[in-house]
Amino acid sequence: MPARNDTEALLALWEAVLKQPAEARAEALLRAWPDSGEPAPTLGERNARLIELHACLFGREIELLSHCPACQAVAQFSADCQALSARMRPGLATAPPHRLQAHGHTVEFRLPGSADIAQACAPQGEHNFMQRLLGCCVLACTHEGQSIALARLPESVLDALSQEMEALDPGASVSFALDCPQCAARWQAPLDVGEMLWRKVRAAAERVLLDIDALARAYGWTEREVLRLSPLRRAAYLQMVTAGG
Ligand SMILES: [Zn+2]
Repeated sequence: MPARNDTEALLALWEAVLKQPAEARAEALLRAWPDSGEPAPTLGERNARLIELHACLFGREIELLSHCPACQAVAQFSADCQALSARMRPGLATAPPHRLQAHGHTVEFRLPGSADIAQACAPQGEHNFMQRLLGCCVLACTHEGQSIALARLPESVLDALSQEMEALDPGASVSFALDCPQCAARWQAPLDVGEMLWRKVRAAAERVLLDIDALARAYGWTEREVLRLSPLRRAAYLQMVTAGG
């Protein structure tokens, strides 16, 4: 843990990520955390680090819920951070650059990592996020031996490319196989790890701000003074404020 206390670290994280667009939040969460280190080389590695950050901030168990697509019943389930992050780092069988051959085209590419996501998040011209990401990761394209531009790859090759990227980096997308508690339906519930973690950070930070507000009004304390209280003392004073109000 960083030198300042957990609550200050949480607020600093919230402040650093709040203004970021949705697609940049996962990166921003990792960057803003003091021990983040080098950018993650793959999205699986990035998800593994986000899960570890969850364990650090909120504990090892992640409580999740999903709605049954057939009857809308709520399925509650949980995931263990350690098992989950291990699953996202299976290790690559081959070293980059990777090569895909599909529909007469050959594409040389590497897997997207944190640095590519950060670059693709910066708006440039008329390209969308996905096109910018592929622009970072596709190293060469040829059609029947002739070099061609990335923009000229047909949809079918781009689909094959994203499937190949997924197969090489299975931890890039996370989902859980669920059984409905009410009916016989089974489904895959996807989890956006960055978004899940951001919602938790935001909710926890907003609770802290409300606590600071209540104690500052009641006792005239500064934010710094409130943050210096241990969680137990803060809760005790809050209880008194609520009981007295
Ligand atoms: Zn159901």
